[in-house]
Order: sequence, then C-alpha cells, then structure tokens
Amino acid sequence: MTATAAPTTEQFVALDEQWSTHNYHPLPVVISHGEGAWVTDVEGRRYLDFLSGYSSLNFGHRHPDLVAAAAAQLGRVTLTSRAFHHDQFGPFCRELAELTGTEMVLAMNSGAEAVESAIKVARKWAYRVKGVPEGTAEIVVAGANFHGRTTTIVSFSTDETARADFGPFTPGFRVVRYGDLAAVRDAITDRTAAVLIEPVQGEAGVVVPPAGYLAGVRALCDEHDVLLIADEIQSGLGRTGDLLALDHEGVRADLYTLGKALGGGIVPVSAVVGSRAVLGVLRPGEHGSTFGGNPLACAVGRAVVRLLSTGEYQRRSRELGARLHARLGEFVGRGVAEVRGRGLWAGVEIAPGGPRGREASEALARLGVLCKETQDSTLRVAPPLVITEAELDRGVDAIARVLAR
Ligand SMILES: *Cc1c(COP(=O)(O)O)cnc(C)c1O
Repeated sequence: MTATAAPTTEQFVALDEQWSTHNYHPLPVVISHGEGAWVTDVEGRRYLDFLSGYSSLNFGHRHPDLVAAAAAQLGRVTLTSRAFHHDQFGPFCRELAELTGTEMVLAMNSGAEAVESAIKVARKWAYRVKGVPEGTAEIVVAGANFHGRTTTIVSFSTDETARADFGPFTPGFRVVRYGDLAAVRDAITDRTAAVLIEPVQGEAGVVVPPAGYLAGVRALCDEHDVLLIADEIQSGLGRTGDLLALDHEGVRADLYTLGKALGGGIVPVSAVVGSRAVLGVLRPGEHGSTFGGNPLACAVGRAVVRLLSTGEYQRRSRELGARLHARLGEFVGRGVAEVRGRGLWAGVEIAPGGPRGREASEALARLGVLCKETQDSTLRVAPPLVITEAELDRGVDAIARVLAR
C-alpha cells in the first residue's frame, strides 16, 4: 500500500472554492472532529467553539444523550413521511408543547421554513378568524431583521446583500425600526395579521431591545387583535439564560418559531409552536413537508426537550453568561465600544481603529478560538452552554489579546 499524505487545509479549502457556490466566506479552518465545546481540524489543531453553529450547538458537539437518541432511532426507522403516523411524532409534539407552554406544534426542518410557515398561518388566521379581506393581510416586521433566506423572507430584509437581484419580492410586509414601539403602533392597520420579531436580533449584532419594548408590542397586539410571532430560532432554547428570550420580560407570543438547537446540531429540526386558536386554522393538504417531523428529527428533538426540561442549561447560560458579560465589559473603552446580549450570547462591538471583524475572527482562530463577525465590526460570541468556566475564560482571554488596548 502506498502512503498518501492526508489532504491539507489549503487543499480542502481549494476544493470548496472550486466545487461549491461562493455564498459563504468561511474562516480557513477545516474541522474534522468535535466534542463538547471543542473542535479539531484536519491538521490536528484544537479550537474552542465560540460560535456553536449560530446557536445550533447549544449542547455542544455530540452531546452523549443526543447522539444516543439519534443512534437508537437510526436502528429503528428514520422516515415515514406524514402519509403515515409514527411513534416519535405525537410524543415529540406533546413534549415540545409542554416545554414551551403551548398547545400545538407544526413540525418543519429549517428555520426559514418555520418562519414561512408562521407567515402562512398568520395570513390564514387573518382571513378566517380576524376577518381581513382576502389577499390584503399585512405583517409588521423590524428593520435589520434576520429570518432566513427564502424569496418571501428576503422580501422584507433590509440587508441589501441578502436582497439585491432576488426580486420580484413578496408584498404584504411593513418594516419599522427595531425597538421603536411608536413605529409599531403607527404601522398597525385593520389589515395587520401579525407582528413578527426577534426578541434579540442575532444577525444584527446581538441587539437587545429597550426594556419594556416586547411587553409594549404584546400590548399593542392585544389591543388591535394582531398576532405576536416571536422568531426564537437563535434566541430560544436556553441561549439567553431562559428557555425563551421572551421569558425575560414575562411576555407570551401567539406563535414561536424554533429551530437551530432543536436539532441538537445533529439534524435540521424546526417548528412553529403556539395556540390551538391560531395553528388550528390549518387543514389537511394546506401545508406540509416531506421530511418535517420525521422519526429521526423527532427522536433528537425529544432528547433536546429532555435536556432543557431540567433547567440546568438555562441556569448555566445565566451564570456563565453573567461571567462572560462581566469580563467582556472590562474591555469597554479599551478596544471594545460596546458589549450587548444576554446569557451566553454577546455582540462585541469593536472600537473604531481596531481590527475589522473578519481580521479579529482570523486572529482568534490563530489563537485557537472560533467565532465569527457579523455586521463587519461585531464579534458574535455564543459558546455552547456545556462550556466550563475555565474554557470560557480561556476564550475571553484570547478575545482580550486580539481586541483589548
Ligand atoms: C438562523 C435563523 C433563521 C433561519 O434558519 P435556517 O435554519 O438557516 O433557515 C431564522 N431566524 C433566525 C432568528 C435565525 O437566527
């Protein structure tokens, strides 16, 4: 047998460049293994994962409970389609509804599909329940939103890079400034079906709205018979130190979109959860997905629900998050302009004159810490909730080396 040298980082990157569309610009790190808060690249270098797949890996890489649930299900049945029932579906829906304090679950796969589904449900609810004239429903959304990449969703994006050249766009959305309650009030009309909002805007740079804003939006929705749809795909399932980011303000949404961590970093699992009065509008044939609610997805989703039902991960996120924010806060005025966020989730705004976000991410990778910039000047920090205090400190020390002056 002839020994062939294992491909290098450069060779793998070149393959991606040649054979994949260029819709991403990844850091030049080629990961081959992951465990807990750590990943290893093809050269054998280890990195702390400070991004967690944009909060898809809240429980770290290959959490033993999640891997065991997936493996057990792989040995039984993986897909039935919704043409038939299977023994993971009902239990998954019940357990997820009970965890989130809701009454019904619409199971999908990707986050964007969950948002699309919530938009369709809200429109149908507007026509059939609220009495909005057919074809005229409007949904109020926030500027700088991120809800996914489908044609309808980018129709109401304010990010030109995400939108340009992809029209014609879907009508029926009104964009208002995030955090501005008066703007929501002004945008609501008799035709408004819903307000769709991220309780914390991740992609925008981990932006937390002013205190009282979310409760104010809830009150406006109640006053005008409008649904509140909370996109908790990134903010939910423990990331902010509570099960849902809305919980911090004691606010309930009519519909929640969930995704990312719901699949445990193993398979894509998303859902719309909410009240029977709203999700109950769907009838057979009106909406669906071949893979939505498949047995493997449900088995992993059930294991995720079990992990969250103890509250341990929410507590870790709260406690370690307090440490993360206290430590990052020390750099404000010393290379860092601002630190935003909640729980184990931070947007670190690099001060003018410092490195650009991309440079900072590359420098961190060289120090063995993986995170990713957003909006050019913000580092998005979202370690897995299984990270230890010592690991967290190690990552923050690396950030200090790159940014602190
Ligand atoms: C990631 C994300 C989505 C889209 O999820 P995909 O699985 O990438 O389609 C939607 N909304 C929010 C808030 C997200 O963070």
